[in-house]
Amino acid sequence: MDAVVIVWLLVIGSAIWVAIDASNLGVKRGCLGGGVLDMGVAGWFFSLLLIWIVGFPAYLAQRSKYVARARLKNQPPEAEQQSSVKLPRLPLSDGGGAPKKYCTSCGHPLAEGTHFCGSCGAKLGA
Ligand SMILES: [Zn+2]
Repeated sequence: MDAVVIVWLLVIGSAIWVAIDASNLGVKRGCLGGGVLDMGVAGWFFSLLLIWIVGFPAYLAQRSKYVARARLKNQPPEAEQQSSVKLPRLPLSDGGGAPKKYCTSCGHPLAEGTHFCGSCGAKLGA
C-alpha cells in the first residue's frame, strides 16, 4: 500500500465519520444561523473529500456548536437532572408526614385532630 492510498483512506474515512457524526447531531444547512461554515451533512462530507486539510479542522471547530445546539434541542429530562445539581425534595407537609387537612367548606388549612374549622366554624367529617 503506498502513501497516497493511505491518505485517501484517511480522508474518506474521516469524511464518512463526519457525515455520520453530523447527521447524529442533526446538522442542517443554516442551522447555526448562517455563515460560510454553516453547512449541511453533505456539505461537510464533500468539504472533507475536496479540501480535507481545511474541512476537517473546520468541522472540529464547528462541532462544539453543533453539540451544544443538539443538547439544547433534544435534551431528555433524565440527562438534564444528571447534569444539574440535585436539589433535595421539599417535604409536602411539615413534620408528621401526613398530608395537611383543609376545610371542606372554606379551604382554610387545619391542624391535625381538629373537628371544627377555625376560620368558618364548619364541622368536619371524619
Ligand atoms: Zn372553614
